[in-house]
Amino acid sequence: MSADGSQTHVIFTKKDELLEVAQDEKKRKSFLAKVKRPAEYLINWGVKSSLWMYAWGLACCAIEMMAFGAARWDSDRYGIIARGTPRQADLMIVNGPITYMMAPRVKRLFNQMPQPRYVIAMGECAINGGPFWDSYSIVKGADKIIPVDVYIPGCPVNPEALLDGIIKLQDKILKGELAS
Ligand code: SF4
Repeated sequence: MSADGSQTHVIFTKKDELLEVAQDEKKRKSFLAKVKRPAEYLINWGVKSSLWMYAWGLACCAIEMMAFGAARWDSDRYGIIARGTPRQADLMIVNGPITYMMAPRVKRLFNQMPQPRYVIAMGECAINGGPFWDSYSIVKGADKIIPVDVYIPGCPVNPEALLDGIIKLQDKILKGELAS
């Protein structure tokens, strides 16, 4: 404390501010949001930096997904590692058309993934059935059976576009804007 008592004054000011925050509902909410945000940000940053994608293939876009995981595009440098079981994956990339026969299996695989879990619809087939949109056997979009976070148009979607979609998903995870 200084001789003129200025530090005491600062302490009282802080106390007054805290009292005001405690009494005012609006200020309390904004204060709590500020305190909570760094922790949420840190957790979301950890999640978005360690997405493990489920290694599976429905059709031709799966070949592009494999290329994305191979040496040239090297998905590992983004913390994206392919896992052979949905139980150890938190990212499902729907990489082809879903037949009505396959739909219950896709839903089951999605349900087996631990939360938080994310879905990317890769290519026209996954978005709305693509070239098979009027077929009797194809579901008109993955979002008819599971929640989709990011849509990547293209036929096929090349690895660069997939990477762009994943970066968009990472942005959404950081901001907390998700479908599921
Ligand atoms: S969008 Fe095109 S490339 Fe991708 S799975 Fe469908 S038909 Fe194949």
